[in-house]
Amino acid sequence: MAIAAEPQMERKASSDGAAAETKRWTLNDFDIGKPLGRGKFGHVYLAREKRSNHIVALKVLFKSQLKQSQVEHQLRREVEIQSHLRHPNILRLYGYFYDQKRVYLILEYAAKGELYKELQKCNYFSERRAATYVASLARALIYCHGKHVIHRDIKPENLLIGAQGELKIADFGWSVHTFNRRRTMCGTLDYLPPEMVESVEHDASVDIWSLGVLCYEFLYGIPPFEAKEHSDTYRRIVQVDLKFPSKPVVSSSAKDLISQMLVKETSQRLPLHKLLEHPWIVQNAEPSGVYRG
Ligand code: AMP
Repeated sequence: MAIAAEPQMERKASSDGAAAETKRWTLNDFDIGKPLGRGKFGHVYLAREKRSNHIVALKVLFKSQLKQSQVEHQLRREVEIQSHLRHPNILRLYGYFYDQKRVYLILEYAAKGELYKELQKCNYFSERRAATYVASLARALIYCHGKHVIHRDIKPENLLIGAQGELKIADFGWSVHTFNRRRTMCGTLDYLPPEMVESVEHDASVDIWSLGVLCYEFLYGIPPFEAKEHSDTYRRIVQVDLKFPSKPVVSSSAKDLISQMLVKETSQRLPLHKLLEHPWIVQNAEPSGVYRG
């Protein structure tokens, strides 16, 4: 895998006028700052690349834990995919390096942290805020699908907020680069579409479903098919048992959009470019894609 480089994060050394050769990153290239959070396989730190002063988030993963959980292949795929994506609503992966015990991912720093925490704090978002986020995610997913990348795990826990308040898709652990329809069961149950719950073939329209679930959760504070038992969530997803609570009050236009995304027949789900033209999005989403509160 090549090391991806940002203009300020260029990692090249030219050797006596010959073509520049890409050098590997090491821990010595960074000043390490405060911990930003803790994940399943390691820690994330604020860091500064010494030469450029570029601020990044350095994710440190323990090889032993990756091996134990048999996710090395998944991580490799995540790095391969995320390092090639360039979109304002997709967290950049600038590069990676490793030593004997650890793997380090050099990530774009998302200054405003986790969307999940924001949602917990607010319980639910205003229609303006929800529509702005949904539109920006639709644009990011249109970009991914154009590159034959299906995310397959869109949910609040995988979204970070940048310094301007813009959403960033941050986790490509379940994504695939594909030209074919897939059968793999992955993602988190609440966000899975019927075709993945039932393990039949699926394609990029799985992300339209998950975005519909996310839109619902933004507006109501809970995902639409939530149930005490896994088996009940399964049943509700497969039957598309979609109900809109009376509180909080949500406009009929928002409900119309959600109903057009949470459709069992994959080919009947509202295409993402059509979503961007839906009256609820047009009337509520900030054209800049940035929600400032
Ligand atoms: P993860 O291992 O990806 O689940 O990350 C653990 C925690 O670190 C997250 O829940 C965030 O709070 C924080 N974090 C991860 N990546 C970033 C980033 N790029 N910018 C800011 N905070 C981050």
